[in-house]
Amino acid sequence: MVVVLPREEGYKVLTMARYTDADCRLCRRTGEKLFLKGERCYTPKCAIDRRKHPPGEHITRRRRVSDSGIQLKEKQKARFTYGVLEKQFRGYFAKAQNSPGITGDALLALLEQRLDNVVYRASFADSRDQARQLVCHGHFDVNGRRLDIPSYNVKVGDVISWRETSKKTEIYKVSVEGLPRRTVPTWLDLDVAKVEVKVQSIPEVLEIAETIDTRLIVEHYSR
Ligand code: SF4
Repeated sequence: MVVVLPREEGYKVLTMARYTDADCRLCRRTGEKLFLKGERCYTPKCAIDRRKHPPGEHITRRRRVSDSGIQLKEKQKARFTYGVLEKQFRGYFAKAQNSPGITGDALLALLEQRLDNVVYRASFADSRDQARQLVCHGHFDVNGRRLDIPSYNVKVGDVISWRETSKKTEIYKVSVEGLPRRTVPTWLDLDVAKVEVKVQSIPEVLEIAETIDTRLIVEHYSR
């Protein structure tokens, strides 16, 4: 499947409805570290630390960024961070608009509830990209049933666990070594002994460790 993004997005061709362009280019395009490549992001190899200017042509002078450009950039940052395509992102935004409470907060909560994000947050994977791959390859059960849909939105009480057959694989051994490798948010309860994670509550905006200004995203879609 080939998806062509609008020119404003700066990326044209996607295959299998996911980015094939280098993750680091996405960071350089937004001008911020989005931590898309796991351990590498914390090393001097990080592309944004080495080359701060956006990818593409040589930049000779900085252009003034308009308000709409700033809003677009913030939306891109959120999309790239969670690995969501424009169409899906619009869907999340529409759902957030119909939710009670603040639209921006509801949007972030919906993105956080994605199954691939939960696998990442539980530190079963180094990056959301890797988490998505693990989910797609069918390594996880949700409430005891195999689920290979990265966009599945987890509910309170859901238990996400490694499949018994996957526990024999090398990827499992590498993934669970030294758990938890990162701080697990309070809305998730990681059981290290069982190597499973339970959804305790819907994530509150203060529990979400991302610096995304959702106000700008709301403004972007209100234009
Ligand atoms: Fe972004 Fe990580 Fe690449 Fe650095 S190493 S540019 S943080 S994806």
